[in-house]
Amino acid sequence: MRFEISKVLDAIEGRVCTDPSLARAVLDLAEVIRYQDLDGGRPANLLRLGMVIDALARDLEEDSVPVYAIVHRALLSDADLTSNERMVVRRWADDGLVEVLDHPGDRMLEVADLLGLPVLSRARFDGLRGRFPWTVEQPGRVLAPVPGAGGPVFIAHVGGGNVPVAGTRSATGEKLLARQWRCPEPGCALFGGGGGGGAFADLARVERAPAGQPPPALRGGVPTCPRHGARLGDAGPRPRTEVLAVRIGGLIRRRFVLTEEQPVLVGRAPEERGGIVLGQWLNDEARRWISRGHVRFELRVGEVIVTDVSTNGSGVRPGGSMAEADRIALKPQQSRVLSAGDMVELYPGVQVGRAGELPSGAPFTPTSVMAEAPTMAMRLPRP
Ligand SMILES: [Zn+2]
Repeated sequence: MRFEISKVLDAIEGRVCTDPSLARAVLDLAEVIRYQDLDGGRPANLLRLGMVIDALARDLEEDSVPVYAIVHRALLSDADLTSNERMVVRRWADDGLVEVLDHPGDRMLEVADLLGLPVLSRARFDGLRGRFPWTVEQPGRVLAPVPGAGGPVFIAHVGGGNVPVAGTRSATGEKLLARQWRCPEPGCALFGGGGGGGAFADLARVERAPAGQPPPALRGGVPTCPRHGARLGDAGPRPRTEVLAVRIGGLIRRRFVLTEEQPVLVGRAPEERGGIVLGQWLNDEARRWISRGHVRFELRVGEVIVTDVSTNGSGVRPGGSMAEADRIALKPQQSRVLSAGDMVELYPGVQVGRAGELPSGAPFTPTSVMAEAPTMAMRLPRP
């Protein structure tokens, strides 16, 4: 039983991140784990985070949708959690997967504002409507997770809808996210780098930095580390990124970020660090066809380049066309620049393309974080 629970917590770990390109909603972890009415269990339970993430995946009709979790520091020593749960949250904090704060204040709304994300919360934000007018003006931007028939469901605070709706990044958010930032505090998990070790001294430790850095907090208009309250140094333009998505059987199973620093290998079970593992979603035939590492993606001067590194080859569907006559074969070791709308097909029904161009088509029930936990093999890159 204990073993199964840590498997589930590992699965949830793949669904928390502070990467602005991947997070799909913002929530307050201390609040969510105390939704006792979701299951009638103990006062605080980390598994409730998994239940809420599952509900989000159902509503967005995508698998693996990560949330941006704000964590009050008191939670790291909250006696209502098990020691195992506390240890897991501390690990997330150390790895920068969640944002730990002494005084969260209105940071949840600030993040949602900067990134254009929906907020999952039962809290009322009456005093903050002036600063964040979208909380009352945009239906679907703030939703309360409440008990439903098959797990939690969402109810919009305004407008009466029940599906989370993303907005757009605020102008300030765009400006902040165009730069990379450096916290003077040594070993800062959010804006790693430290003070004296040179600009890139600690990049190896915080693997997702700098392309995946969270949005800085603004204090009096000054970019500030939300964790340490320190003024952030401007470390130059943020590296270019492209968000790609994997679609299997018509459904987006996961998204990943491509940077110019790091190619990404996609296949049945790539051995390289940061590789995208598809094995758990494939039937036997597809598993036989698709190599462990099947295609490699690179970002070069803003162009997405795909290289087939498989045994059996793959194909490109120009502009997403599903007509067989349009399909361009990609033989082993061949490369191709992806034009707008192009989709790489590893096997019929197994596709990779730019996230914005690849709709989640089929009617679907996403794999539950709970149910797939035992085979859970995909994890965000960790130091
Ligand atoms: Zn910091």
